[in-house]
Amino acid sequence: MFDHQALIEKSKQYLWLPFTQMKDYDQHPLIIASGEGVCLTDTQGKSYYDGFSSVWLNVHGHRKAELDEAIRKQLELIAHSTLLGMTNVPATLLAEKLVEITPPGLTRVFYSDSGAEAVEIALKMAFQYWQNIGQKEKQTFITMKNGYHGDTIGAVSVGAIDLFHQIYQPLLFKSFKVPYPYVYRHPSRDREQCKQDCLQALHHVLQEHHQQVAALIVEPMIQGAGGMITMPPGFLSEVARLCREFDVLLICDEVATGFGRTGRMFACEHEAVRPDIMTVAKGITGGYLPIAATLTTETIYEAFYADYTELKTFFHGHSYTGNQLGCAVALANLELFERENLVEQVAEKAAFIAPLLQELASLDHVGEVRQIGLMAGVELVQDKETRQPFAWENRMGYRVSLKMRELGMLTRPMGDVLVFMPPLCSTREELQEMISIMRQAIEQVTQGEQAYV
Ligand code: PMP
Repeated sequence: MFDHQALIEKSKQYLWLPFTQMKDYDQHPLIIASGEGVCLTDTQGKSYYDGFSSVWLNVHGHRKAELDEAIRKQLELIAHSTLLGMTNVPATLLAEKLVEITPPGLTRVFYSDSGAEAVEIALKMAFQYWQNIGQKEKQTFITMKNGYHGDTIGAVSVGAIDLFHQIYQPLLFKSFKVPYPYVYRHPSRDREQCKQDCLQALHHVLQEHHQQVAALIVEPMIQGAGGMITMPPGFLSEVARLCREFDVLLICDEVATGFGRTGRMFACEHEAVRPDIMTVAKGITGGYLPIAATLTTETIYEAFYADYTELKTFFHGHSYTGNQLGCAVALANLELFERENLVEQVAEKAAFIAPLLQELASLDHVGEVRQIGLMAGVELVQDKETRQPFAWENRMGYRVSLKMRELGMLTRPMGDVLVFMPPLCSTREELQEMISIMRQAIEQVTQGEQAYV
């Protein structure tokens, strides 16, 4: 059906892929032609499990009949019209739905097209809120070390993964970076100790600088791109409490964790946290089309509501914001969540895979397995005793992921942390099969690696 070889040549000749060293792509090219359920098929007809939900967003599988139909139905009316100064039917209905399902207090929806944009909007909104109410000195942000919020300049400014962000330093605005409770890498390895150390550091920064701080941004319950690092219980709620105490807005970035991924509709629900601003994207359309949103409170919204001449308007927008096709499929996606009781199902499936994933921790080179809901990371190390990582040049995570591809599953590692984020609809059998592929790949690639250096 496809001229596989010709397509491969064209892909090598014309494309520049995101987050990809093209020298790697040229050695291991792959072109996806179709998908069905939890599987993707390439141009040669080989099928793979979509073990990372096509970068953390697929929910009900590929070619879900109800979602396909929602797009077809919307197409008969219109594909797109602007949201500048007007709205459209599905964007309006989706806003109502989002307010209904997100934590109490979030009453306003500002659309965009990607997670990074939703974050940019959150940052600008928080900044301008304080400007509009006359607290002009509150201009900076607090962010967590190892955090990730997208690739645009504002999002990178509040990011803290050296490998991705260091080179752009001269372009970035400054923010306060506080330690994140990465228990596995804390000298004590003690959850409570690690949590207390991080909270103390945050408290110190707030006490010293809160008058200059507009907002704190955090990935709730788990840092994704930083290496699937789960928080100790009680950390997020304490961060939220400190933000309130020091009059700093709390931005929860739910781009990766939102829409059922962690076993709750939104991760901040695990600790009954009510953010002032929340960003969502990825799973909002079931993984179909690029819709994102920044939700906020009536208090923040009202600080922008004034006569035009007062210069309090939020001057931000994108051409495709509130796209009808995207909003229509998002509505259908959320209907399916309800009809299929999906969030409860995720919690059940998470409990089912927990022991299977923990079995991987017995392998020679698996340092730690971290999981919340259907979001997991397997940290590979050279030496389990000392927690010493593999040498950077070894590219262990990448090599194991290539082996998984060979064995029939696609995923992308974060350094030496293997990522497991299957579509939420995956059956128990499919989950079991995917974990078994992961195990085989780890065994085959790490076999013969020295356990001690
Ligand atoms: N925030 C978080 C927490 C994310 O994980 C990501 C993407 N992985 C983003 C923001 C950026 O989203 P996008 O790729 O849609 O710009």
